[in-house]
Amino acid sequence: MKQRLVLVLIAAVVLAVAGVVGWRLRNDPSGNSLGQNAYQHTAAILAIGPRPAGSQGLAKVRGYVKQELEKSGWSVKEQAFKRNTLKGEVEFVNVRARFAPKGTDAWAAVPEGILCAHIDSKDIPGMEFLGADDAASACAAIVEIGRHLASQKPEQAGKLELVFFDGEEGFSDSITTIDGLFGSREYAGVWRSQPKKPRFGILLDMIGHTNLRISLPVDSPEFLKNHVLAAATQEDVKKHFSVSDFTITDDHVPLNQVGIPTIDVIGDFSNFNWWHNQKGGKDDLSVISAESLDKSMRVTIRTLDRLFDKDQ
Ligand SMILES: [Zn+2]
Repeated sequence: MKQRLVLVLIAAVVLAVAGVVGWRLRNDPSGNSLGQNAYQHTAAILAIGPRPAGSQGLAKVRGYVKQELEKSGWSVKEQAFKRNTLKGEVEFVNVRARFAPKGTDAWAAVPEGILCAHIDSKDIPGMEFLGADDAASACAAIVEIGRHLASQKPEQAGKLELVFFDGEEGFSDSITTIDGLFGSREYAGVWRSQPKKPRFGILLDMIGHTNLRISLPVDSPEFLKNHVLAAATQEDVKKHFSVSDFTITDDHVPLNQVGIPTIDVIGDFSNFNWWHNQKGGKDDLSVISAESLDKSMRVTIRTLDRLFDKDQ
C-alpha cells in the first residue's frame, strides 16, 4: 500500500512539473511556444536539404521564408547581385522584410533597427551539410519573431527591418573578409552613404542548440551587450549567456563598419563538436531544441523591448 502511495505521489509531482513546464512554453495564442513554432520552421527549412549560395535548395528556402513572412503581413524584397568567388561567379540573393499598415509604403522610412541572420548553409564537398543551427534555426527564429511582433507589437514591427543574408559562409575552410560575408557586405553598402541609418542591429547565429551556450564577441557594442545581458537576466536565462574573450568574423562586421552598431548573438561554436560537422557531430535537426530556441527568442524580444523603450 505504502509503495502505491509513493508511486501516486511521484506521478502527481511529475504531472505538476509537466503542467508548469507546459504552461511556461504555451505563451502564444496558437497554443505553441515561440520556440516550438521556430522549431517547426527549422525542420521545414532542413527538409529542403542543403542550401549553399547559388543552389536550388536556397531558392526554395528563400521562397519558404518569403511566404511565411508575407502570411504575417510583412513586405518582402530581394537584393540580388553577382560576385566572383573561389568557385567562380555566384549569384547571391539577400531577403529583406519590412512591416507597415496596409496602404502605406513599408520601404519609405529608415528603420530604427535590424534583426538578421544568414540564410545559406556552408558548401562542404562530399558531405550533405544542413547547417541546422548554422543558421537555419536563426532564420526560423526571425520568421517567428516577425509573426509575433506583427500580431502583438505592430508598432515595433514597423520600426524594424528583417534581413536574411546570403553567402555568409566562405567557399574555403574559414570565413575571411573576402571569402564569405558576401550578403552582409552588399547589404551594408546600401547604408554606407546614407546620412540616416538604423541605430542598432541584432545578428542571430547558432541560437537553437540543445544545452544553449551563447557567447557574445568581446568587441560587441557596449550598449547592445548590456541590453542583451540584462534581457537574459530578466528572462531568467542569464546562465546561458557569456562574453567571450575573442572577436568573431560574422555578418555583424560589415554593419559595424558602415556605422550601424550591431551585436552578434552567437553560439559558443568553437566548443561544439557539430560545428561544420568537424569533430564527429552533425549539425542537423538532432542538435536543435525548441526550449533553447524559446530562450534565445525571448531574450531577443526583450532586448528589442529595451531598445525601443527610451526609459530602459
Ligand atoms: Zn557556418
